[in-house]
Amino acid sequence: MTALSWFSDLLHLFYPNVCLACGNTLYRQEEVICFSCLYKLPKTGFHFHAENPVSRVFWGRVDIQAATSFLFFSKGGSVQHLVHALKYKGLKEAGVYLGKLFGSDLQQSELFKPVEIVVPVPLHPKKERKRGFNQSTCIAKGIADAMNIPCVDDNLIRKVHTSTQTKKSRYSRWDNVKGVFGLVHPAVFENRKLLLVDDVLTTGATLESCAACLLQIPGVRVSVATLAYAQV
Ligand SMILES: [Zn+2]
Repeated sequence: MTALSWFSDLLHLFYPNVCLACGNTLYRQEEVICFSCLYKLPKTGFHFHAENPVSRVFWGRVDIQAATSFLFFSKGGSVQHLVHALKYKGLKEAGVYLGKLFGSDLQQSELFKPVEIVVPVPLHPKKERKRGFNQSTCIAKGIADAMNIPCVDDNLIRKVHTSTQTKKSRYSRWDNVKGVFGLVHPAVFENRKLLLVDDVLTTGATLESCAACLLQIPGVRVSVATLAYAQV
């Protein structure tokens, strides 16, 4: 047994050796999801079209350069398993891995090539302490890594705690998120093209609020990318 395979076996003691999408055992060459699930990932391809269902979410609401989601989210589907593993099982590697896949796709898109800095949607510090990490930051780091640009996760911040938003209408969500974001050093983003990143897109209210905050900075351009797209 080589040192490397011994190390890999040891690693598998601590990290689940199963595909996070289908639950089948992973082969040694596979990472996070099996090749079969990787091949079958329900990609949207939205980032190759300026007009798409995600960009339409923001029409008339906030000035976004380009918007996309990487994968279709369906109840009980592989993407739900992945997002669940990332969010609730704390598998940060899954977020970074999926972010990298997303980032290499975005690099092929003329619409997203101009992006200079990746900015994750912040969690409230209390919530982040409870969960131990911000899942959007994991995705953002993966995207930034694949696109070879920086990820800045400590400038856009959440100011007040909002209650969990899952079961609210678009309008009550907007009331809930309005004015809750702020910037530590606005000058850092001046005249930069930013890519705002979140895990799942539903109504877009949180992203809208973040983008509105960022757009107060002179010369800023904002594009939006979420890992998954859930139709509402
Ligand atoms: Zn699988």
